[in-house]
Amino acid sequence: MPSSVRVRFAPSPTGTLHVGGARTALFNYLFARRSGGTFVLRSEDTDAARSSREFEQAIQADLRWLGLDWDEGPDTGGPYAPYRQTERADRYALAAARLIEIEAVYPCYCTPEELEAERQRQHARGEAPKYSGKCRELSQARRAANEAQGMKPALRFAMPQRDIYVEDLIRGSVHFPPGSIGDFVVLRSDSMPAYNFAVVVDDSDMEISHVIRADEHLPNTPRQVALFEALELSLPMFAHVSMILAPDHQKLSKRHGATSVSEYRDAGYLPEALVNYLALLGWSPGDDREFFTLPELVAAFSLERASKSPAVFDAEKLRWFNAHYLRALPAAERAALFAQWAAHDERLAQLPELRDPIWLETAAQALSDHVHTLSDVPRELASLLSDDLPVPLADDALRSSQAQALLRELGDIAAREPDPEQFAHATSKDALKSLGGKHGLGGRTLFRPIRVAVTGSEHGIELALLLRLLGPQRVARRIAAALHTQSASGQEPSRLP
Ligand code: GLU
Repeated sequence: MPSSVRVRFAPSPTGTLHVGGARTALFNYLFARRSGGTFVLRSEDTDAARSSREFEQAIQADLRWLGLDWDEGPDTGGPYAPYRQTERADRYALAAARLIEIEAVYPCYCTPEELEAERQRQHARGEAPKYSGKCRELSQARRAANEAQGMKPALRFAMPQRDIYVEDLIRGSVHFPPGSIGDFVVLRSDSMPAYNFAVVVDDSDMEISHVIRADEHLPNTPRQVALFEALELSLPMFAHVSMILAPDHQKLSKRHGATSVSEYRDAGYLPEALVNYLALLGWSPGDDREFFTLPELVAAFSLERASKSPAVFDAEKLRWFNAHYLRALPAAERAALFAQWAAHDERLAQLPELRDPIWLETAAQALSDHVHTLSDVPRELASLLSDDLPVPLADDALRSSQAQALLRELGDIAAREPDPEQFAHATSKDALKSLGGKHGLGGRTLFRPIRVAVTGSEHGIELALLLRLLGPQRVARRIAAALHTQSASGQEPSRLP
């Protein structure tokens, strides 16, 4: 029997996809796929001034990049089309007519200025904003007079004066006492549906079984429940997922760093890493396991393990996940990504190494501890391949006569073996050891001068691998330059004991 689970992600296309929105989309997706249900994408574009098709498309592109596909939506269509609220005016008009017929709504002539002044007064008294109900009791004569003056009313829902309980799959039963919620607008004076109304009509029309959304919408839910009931529509189940906070426990915002999915994509994050990390914000598998592919998440996901406490977004942890996913990529795929990201640096892009897949695979492997995001790639490759090295003047490591003799010999080998394979062979770990032995050098006294001469730094990737990646010409050039700097410094070579 086909599953009756139908869930939806309903972004307003007024901006790009925020990580919080992506997490909501992901939970809906996982829930749908886990139960063999249907995942619907709906564009809540009734705010004409702030919505755009560009944002709608950008959100879809971000969802696809994350690997989240949907079964019905504005682009794909489906049996409950249209999936864009601006194209559903007739549905809202029908539901509004029904609300008028059962006298669940009344015309409200209050101007935005009057409403704002009311909010200010309530604020000054330390009260939560709530519509006074002023237009609820207007006489028919008054209404007729207002209409005669050409006033265009909004349509306001008369909130029933009774207890409302929202049965939430994550938060349990949430109580809203009578009088805690004021009458709210369902149709604005320009006939545009307000959020709480459109969402009820759509969720009902589209036979949504579970509304899984951010818990900032929890205060809206009793309004929606009252509307469902007034229209005699069956209620979906609700699940409000916890907030995502910044490490300072404030709402995650721009000032905390990147907050949109596209910023993470542009900063060289892999979608697999972002999806894995987001899944663990407000959900846990119940054990210590941290790494999940999308299909593994589908298999493991349940709303029972979703948490009602806020989740803290830890950008460092996400970077760590990303480094893990980069290391886990098949070598050829990772090499191709390295080449693509290295191309951001024009000088790098011209180097022949970047067209050599084997070289790229070796470099990607060698640099795996240094590259956390793909945007680190140009910097790390440039620090390897650039000829503008910070060679330390007269470095102690290069001062001994033994080190200088070793470097001269290594320089000769590099000059003699222009073939990269031969050179790699001649400078393997064992070959370097026996070369060191010849000059009375071993361990640190062997590796340090070579590393300093060819990179200008004391730390970095494994030496034999480093020499292989640099190649004979670069090694010869750098050793010659380091020896030249050393002799130009005027320091007499010392003799190691
Ligand atoms: N358009 C609403 C938003 O973006 C959707 C809320 C809901 O899922 O009901 O927050």
